[in-house]
Order: sequence, then structure tokens, then C-alpha cells
Amino acid sequence: MARPGGRLDLVFVPVDPDAPGPDGFVPPDEGWRVERHPRAVLYTRQQGGFSAKCPRDGRDVTAAFVRAHAGWRDGVGPRALVCPCGSSHDLAALRFVAPGGSTHPAAAYARFAVIQLDAPSATPDSATTEALSASFGPYFMIARRPAG
Ligand SMILES: [Zn+2]
Repeated sequence: MARPGGRLDLVFVPVDPDAPGPDGFVPPDEGWRVERHPRAVLYTRQQGGFSAKCPRDGRDVTAAFVRAHAGWRDGVGPRALVCPCGSSHDLAALRFVAPGGSTHPAAAYARFAVIQLDAPSATPDSATTEALSASFGPYFMIARRPAG
């Protein structure tokens, strides 16, 4: 099933990176997967890259983010970085931006994700979005194209 750009997964994560769950979400069919983690992990769009921006003034902090994220992932650092703007930011509070200015974040931290595998479209249907909202409130959607 060839499609331009390859397989598309829609990854739905709660806006709150530390929210446990999802409670009460019933996958509509076998094309869905629910992942849970003991602590927040970073979900990304995988192909196409992204940059990290300061949530206060929008400056690019991608290099500092990459170092801080590696420390957090490896368990040797906090989930935070000291920003040139003068603040310390939770990594989950950074804005992750895809090249080209998609309205969806390019990455997000979360303890769980509901994933529609091989989605037919980058726009979920309204029944899906209503079920997601009812289950875990405000959420981000990441349009992920798995590498390989
Ligand atoms: Zn900052």
C-alpha cells in the first residue's frame, strides 16, 4: 500500500506530560495501540526533524534541549534546562516546532500515548477526537512517519 511519504501514525498524548492513563479509552479497532510508561518519554514525528523553542520568547534552544534530553533519558539529569532567557524550563514546556510551521507539535513528552497505526488521513474523524477528549481531556496530536 504505497502512499506518498510512507506510513502515517497519529500519536495522541495528553497535554499534561505526567498524566497517567488513559482511563476509559477503548480503541475503536485493532488498528490502535495504547502505550504506557513509568515516566514521561518523548514522542516525536520521527521523520523531518524539529527544533525546540523557548516558551517565553521563542528563541531556538535545540542544541541545549538535545543535551538536556539525553541526560534526562539516561537518568543522569533533570527534565529541565537553563535557558539563555534566564529561566529554567521543564523540557516538556518547550515548544517543539516542525519545519514549515505545522499547527501540530512535532514532539511531546507523555507517560502514555494512544496511537492510530497506519492512519488513512492526517485528520482524525470527529468520533475519534470526541472519544479522546472524553478519555483524557486536552491532548496533542503528532503526525508520525516511522522511519524505515
Ligand atoms: Zn527560555
